[in-house]
Amino acid sequence: MADLLAMLKERQIRDIIAYLNHGDKIMPAIDTESGMAYYNVGNTKLDISVIDSLIGCGLLKDSGSSSLASCPVCGNMEFNVELVCPTHGVTLQKEEIYEEPRTGFIGTIDKFILKDSKTLTSPVDKKEITRSSIVKRSYWFRCSVGGEVVNNPKIVLHCLKGHDFEIIQANIVEIHRFIPDESKLKFAVDYIKFLEFASDFMKERGYNEVDNRLAGASKVTYTLDAVYRKGTETLALSVMSGGNSSLMGVISMLPEIYDLKQANVVDFAVVFIPSVGLDVTSVLERYGVSIISANSFEDAIEALKRSIIATSQQKISNQ
Ligand SMILES: [Zn+2]
Ligand SMILES: [Zn+2]
Repeated sequence: MADLLAMLKERQIRDIIAYLNHGDKIMPAIDTESGMAYYNVGNTKLDISVIDSLIGCGLLKDSGSSSLASCPVCGNMEFNVELVCPTHGVTLQKEEIYEEPRTGFIGTIDKFILKDSKTLTSPVDKKEITRSSIVKRSYWFRCSVGGEVVNNPKIVLHCLKGHDFEIIQANIVEIHRFIPDESKLKFAVDYIKFLEFASDFMKERGYNEVDNRLAGASKVTYTLDAVYRKGTETLALSVMSGGNSSLMGVISMLPEIYDLKQANVVDFAVVFIPSVGLDVTSVLERYGVSIISANSFEDAIEALKRSIIATSQQKISNQ
């Protein structure tokens, strides 16, 4: 989940997660200038590079592609289809063709004179027949102006923005279908819930959540998962992928922690999901970093709640 965690530091990615969790689908659209496909989710336009990164970290899966027609004027992919007479340019009527097997007669339903809703009259020998004694065979298109049967109707598309065009004039665009991976999406949603809880938790302690980019003493800017501020006190929160491989990750992060701690007296808290061993926590504790080590974000929230109880009990015992 390390790559996904890195992406979740970006607000735009968190917005995309919120839309996907809300059930919004990634919808294709066509850029009218370039004729190229792009994708939307909710109110966010997705850059192809963002989609590639989301696929790279396993959050999105490409579930196949198809070639779709779009309006050559506005790029719209929603349109009505009309069948038109190639000679007279008018809409064709569809007529169903019936056969009466007893006599071999073939024709439209109006050739069998309707007696009532259940019985008809055969046009051949004028005998009364039942509805079940005729069989639907096919249909044809008839021109309402010339009255002729049309075998080669012209297909005209009406884009919902009012542009008419023939199928050969349409733009053909390759559209992909992207679907979220359920377990990765849940992880990302739980991450956001945890940050919301942490934000409220810090607010109760007089901290406001501020922009999650902080400059260190070296002037290098780091992107954290959340930054909280109360007066001149700043607390930086970093969420890291725990488990067995986290020691190397923590060691590579030490310069960042050191650099930030040198600037504006920054306090630092690291949340590990899943939990880590003492080898990792002891390294960070030497740097004065607060640690939450939990197997899930739900557990991390519980750990924060327990610390509320611990602090209030401490207050009581101090009185
Ligand atoms: Zn159009
Ligand atoms: Zn016609």
